[in-house]
Amino acid sequence: MKLLVAVKRVIDYNVQALVKADQSGIELANVKMSMNPFDEIALEEAIRLREKGAATEVVVVSVGEAKAQDTLRTALAMGADRAILIRTEEEVQPLAVAKLLKAVFDEERPGIVFLGKQAIDDDSNQVGQMLAALCGRPQGTFASKVELAGETITVTREVDGGTETVALMLPAIITADLRLNEPRYASLPNIMKAKSKPLVQKTPADYGVDISPRFITLKVVAPPRRAVGYKVPDVDALVGKLKEMGVAA
Ligand code: AMP
Repeated sequence: MKLLVAVKRVIDYNVQALVKADQSGIELANVKMSMNPFDEIALEEAIRLREKGAATEVVVVSVGEAKAQDTLRTALAMGADRAILIRTEEEVQPLAVAKLLKAVFDEERPGIVFLGKQAIDDDSNQVGQMLAALCGRPQGTFASKVELAGETITVTREVDGGTETVALMLPAIITADLRLNEPRYASLPNIMKAKSKPLVQKTPADYGVDISPRFITLKVVAPPRRAVGYKVPDVDALVGKLKEMGVAA
């Protein structure tokens, strides 16, 4: 069985995101970029399944500009077998990503597609769900545990107030949540080996997918600055302060 993993190049989670002066988006010039953290978890799970002998190949795919090759090389260094870059310099919104992944799904015929639960740049949390709908296949989103048994995969999902366990027929779409696993670091020898692993480049036109945007971002604004806090010596002072602020009677 082949496993497909979607990985996105995003602003590094340690970077303090700054809004561009014209409010058109986040400043990305000279900013550290990395693989979306949830995609690292998705990839780790796929590699573990292959290491257990449950899968034969892990294929990683990314949609984005030429620099997304770096992200794919990182994925290859972690242990993926080959990579596909669907290259475009245009903005690609979640529906277009899902359509492109559907085209790759049709071509590669994977048993499982792993994605992150969301990309930390736009926090859309849409691509996995849209991909499942486009492919007409079952989805297990926010996965914190997966167990493969023959033609079925059991997915424990993180839901409000607990977990939910669902059994999906393969092929299935799974989106990874934080607790699924702890992704490995790529070792130096594997980083070197990754340089010679196959990475093919395609374009959205190769798949006949129209990636034109379906919505326009009107403006991006930074969250309001938090007001200064107060330190209170004891509970009485806290209650007094809350009354003074009008949030307690
Ligand atoms: P989103 O719905 O945009 O929050 O993204 C959910 C997941 O879809 C991500 O964690 C990735 O696994 C995948 N994804 C989103 N955008 C891309 C992209 N440009 N290239 C590859 N995978 C993507």
